[in-house]
Amino acid sequence: MRESTAIKHRGQRRTEGRRSEIHASQRNQRQQLGSQFDGKGTDAEGRMKTPAEKLLDRAFGIFAVAKKQTVTEWAEDNAYLSERVTEMAGRYSTADHPYVREILETYQDPRVKKVSLCWGSQTAKTTTIYIGLGWVIDQSPGPILWVWSNEKQARAFSNDRFIPFCEDTGVIAKHLPKTSEGKIDRDRASALRIEFDRCSLNMIGGQSQRNVRNYPVSYLILDEIDVIPEPIRRDAADRVKGRRSYKIIQSSTPIEEGGIWSEYLTGDQRKFLMPCPHCDKEISFEWRKGKGEYNIHFPPEAKGEDGAYDWHMLKKEAHYVCQECGGAIRDADKLRMLRKGKWKATSSGEPNVRSYHLNSLYSPTITFGEMLIRWFRAQESLDGLKQFVTGWLAEPWKEELLDVTEEATHLLAGDYERGDVMGEFRLMGVDVQRSHFVWIVRGFDSDGTSYLIDNGNSPTWKDLDKTFANFACSAAVVDSGFGERTQECYEQIYKRRNTFWASKGWKRLAQPVAIKAVDPFTGTNKANTHKIRLLHIDVSTFGGEILKRRAKLVEGFHIYRDPDREYIKQLNAKFIVEKTTRTGEVVQEWRTKRHRQDHFFDCEVYVLALSKILGLGNVTRKAEKNEQDEDKNESVAGTKPVRRRRRKKTSRNFW
Ligand SMILES: [Zn+2]
Repeated sequence: MRESTAIKHRGQRRTEGRRSEIHASQRNQRQQLGSQFDGKGTDAEGRMKTPAEKLLDRAFGIFAVAKKQTVTEWAEDNAYLSERVTEMAGRYSTADHPYVREILETYQDPRVKKVSLCWGSQTAKTTTIYIGLGWVIDQSPGPILWVWSNEKQARAFSNDRFIPFCEDTGVIAKHLPKTSEGKIDRDRASALRIEFDRCSLNMIGGQSQRNVRNYPVSYLILDEIDVIPEPIRRDAADRVKGRRSYKIIQSSTPIEEGGIWSEYLTGDQRKFLMPCPHCDKEISFEWRKGKGEYNIHFPPEAKGEDGAYDWHMLKKEAHYVCQECGGAIRDADKLRMLRKGKWKATSSGEPNVRSYHLNSLYSPTITFGEMLIRWFRAQESLDGLKQFVTGWLAEPWKEELLDVTEEATHLLAGDYERGDVMGEFRLMGVDVQRSHFVWIVRGFDSDGTSYLIDNGNSPTWKDLDKTFANFACSAAVVDSGFGERTQECYEQIYKRRNTFWASKGWKRLAQPVAIKAVDPFTGTNKANTHKIRLLHIDVSTFGGEILKRRAKLVEGFHIYRDPDREYIKQLNAKFIVEKTTRTGEVVQEWRTKRHRQDHFFDCEVYVLALSKILGLGNVTRKAEKNEQDEDKNESVAGTKPVRRRRRKKTSRNFW
């Protein structure tokens, strides 16, 4: 037993010896390269050097003594990532993601107190953080506190990645606590607390403020800060700020506009610039070129006639297009560009605070085609889009993004033709304009699945009657709110009172939709004898429901094949922005895109409201099942709308 351990140790030592030889020669090469790069004329801050400074550099270069080892050199000479922590086991290297080098150097730079990494997925941010901590433990020890969003995550990270890293990296392993037999003392090297010989590392789940206050801290790590509660973040930061020397390293993909995004904005907002292989101008990888335009291009053939994408071709052919010269940048160019890149501050920011933005286009493990495919898939749902923007673009989610692209709306197109009679029931929605009507006909199944059958403009009521008959509609809803035509609407609806409903939209009602009977002849000699049905519709609620359907967050909302462009444009005309008022209250505001009409959107709102009144779409909702079953029999079975009796609904149970 003892013998085999000894043999293993000898074997290990041999390999380590070889490794350090190799790395010494690599380091020499690097130092030579480094001095060439220094001659390029920027300092460690990315600032241009003056000619005088350059001259001094050259003069002193002659007398330069052995340089202090950089954190990157320390890491590449010593850090070891085994198959326990990575698929690409081996000695740590920054060669494939050179953008981490400057981050590692901040651990050693006394001028830097706070580092904020607003980075996308697959950019190696957590690895960079703990490699830097390895340097701290070996070269510049001080108490370390690592705050996580919860304890489970902290334990998993510690057991699966951090402790193996410490054990596998010889220069860190020697600082681990040992038993009298020389083995690692598990009592003093547990998941949440490791007592190294010259410093301790504590990991806590960010749930208890008291927890944070218990620890002395020189190095504070906050990974994924956007999921750590704000008071705990603040408390943890207060712990270190009293100390003469400290360092806060925090990272996250941005979830909201607070968190890492605001931390990024308070720093000097560094971007990683690389020379374009075609025009040599320094560019950053950006997803969007302008509104609705993107820097990733692909051959048009990748989109089939049926609107479906050829994923294989996208993966192979997608490339980045330089925003300066239009040159095509392929995946094969990326690594070369990354190696020539450097961080550049884009703002002055608070002193001693560095902030870095990096989206996943920079990731050495994600191709341009893979990013594009993720983007297309993300379009299929609202959540998908949010995850793409925050996780892969490393940008905060804004509610304007509920505004999906027209491209995405095309994904709603079904496999039926315009004019095909679809659904068990057909409903018509009419928006009244000064000189014409805008209408849609939508078919519904009783479970709420619906199909846009046709849409258009008609000049007269007779034309509306024709369309109504043509698609064998069950009911129509007409917006009677257009001031100068309200009386006309009432009278015409009265003529069709068995099937036509009037409607009026409201910004906010106590319930999403209410039925009122109104006298169409008020103020005439026919007053007080007749009634028509008027729907009061909460357009915020139903508009929101249309947005969800538009973004495929609610399934079963279909449009006929190869949809009318004008319909798509108008369906996409409306969106919501969220605003925070002075009192801190978040409010939603509806907006219509500039120079856009939105009548088809409104028609969809009326029709959806009417469908709910008729009991369509509620049959599959379990919580309300019993109640709805009764309603269904009452209202849908006869296909004729039946006036509800003694029925009270609130927005809570309505859906
Ligand atoms: Zn270029």
